[in-house]
Amino acid sequence: MAETCTACDFDFSELDAGDGPASFMVLVYGALIVPLAFLLESLASPPLWVQAVLWGTVMIVATLKTLRPLKALMIGWQFRIRDPEKRYF
Ligand SMILES: [Zn+2]
Repeated sequence: MAETCTACDFDFSELDAGDGPASFMVLVYGALIVPLAFLLESLASPPLWVQAVLWGTVMIVATLKTLRPLKALMIGWQFRIRDPEKRYF
């Protein structure tokens, strides 16, 4: 993450989402993808390599598309929670 905001030089050094976004995505995508894999298996019973390639690709693309926005969301929440004087909101 950048040290400061490029527009206003706000200091981001106090803010850190850690593993929060990745952990959240594991839970959400696991809850969505695993039932879909079971559903596909029960309906079409494709070869195992098809399941692995299909759901592996879906997981990688979904992760790459959502990790950054989710991290920004969590940093925003953290920023708001740590701003008790409500200077920015
Ligand atoms: Zn800024």
